[in-house]
Amino acid sequence: MTWHILGAGSLGSLWACRLAQAGAPVRLILRDAARLAAYRQAGGLALQQDGHWQRLAIAAELPGAEAPITRLLVACKAYDAEAAVASVARRLVAGCELLLLQNGLGSQQAIAARWPQARCLFVSSTEGAYRHADFQVVFAGRGQNWLGDPQDPTPPAWLATLEQAGIPLQWTPAILARLWRKLALNCAINPLTVLHDCRNGGLLARRDEVLALCDELARLLQAVGQAQAADDLADEVLRVIEATAANLSSMQQDVAAGRRTEIAYLLGHACRTAADHALALPRLQALDERLRQCLAARGLPTD
Ligand code: NAP
Repeated sequence: MTWHILGAGSLGSLWACRLAQAGAPVRLILRDAARLAAYRQAGGLALQQDGHWQRLAIAAELPGAEAPITRLLVACKAYDAEAAVASVARRLVAGCELLLLQNGLGSQQAIAARWPQARCLFVSSTEGAYRHADFQVVFAGRGQNWLGDPQDPTPPAWLATLEQAGIPLQWTPAILARLWRKLALNCAINPLTVLHDCRNGGLLARRDEVLALCDELARLLQAVGQAQAADDLADEVLRVIEATAANLSSMQQDVAAGRRTEIAYLLGHACRTAADHALALPRLQALDERLRQCLAARGLPTD
């Protein structure tokens, strides 16, 4: 069965190259004719792994191609994912599978609600990749991918294909808990690094501010039925800050590079969910407002 991959950015290319290297049938779906022409001009995808570049001439097509789609890896940013799926929606067969790689929460639920005929598998990834140039991707950090379906705990039969392709994978029925935990870690660290213009380690001097946010985030996790994701949250946040003290957070890297952030699916999602549950979380709310002001002042989208 063909793996259609929607979005040939960092993670989409990383997955496409590993599947293609393992001999699986892969087709990239690029957003428009200009991107497809640029891809053909580049001669395929290039992946740098363990210091070596390898070019793979993976087939690519436009969203409007005719072939039906039975398995789609959605590898766009959270704010692009729903529109990207809409661009191929008429090709989705009943019972098709969508693997949603997006960070944060909200985009996955929007897609699952709009295309109920698809099985939506949510992915939480700690692998790292970045674009060296268009269609050239560097595999920068080994990690894990957790995969799960909030509606159905039965794992799909093809998990072994991914493992054979060297894609680390763990099936988990508790995928929402994992995504909420990652979202909470992000909310406790990333916005503050942008507002204080510091590396992660800079937050060690602002421990009280971080701990107060963790307290509100833990209350939010409990309110949404993810008490397990709230366990020892503050301890893990502090451990992550210490272990990554010299790093720039991904949100700060995006802001520094003038790229749109995924704030609406991270801190924004946390604040909207708190409001839906009539839960007052004043520190989180104030953080969201300050971050939006900071983004707007830099001419960046606030959604
Ligand atoms: P990325 O490098 O920006 O790639 C996104 C790709 O989606 C781009 O190639 C973009 O096309 C494409 N795209 C957007 N709209 C499209 C459409 N309508 N049709 C077809 N393609 C479309 O992003 P990424 O870093 O791979 O991140 C993807 C998701 O994974 C994000 O939610 C991110 O937070 C998450 N994630 C990333 C990493 C990582 O290390 N990179 C790790 C964990 C999680 P253009 O090239 O034409 O702009």
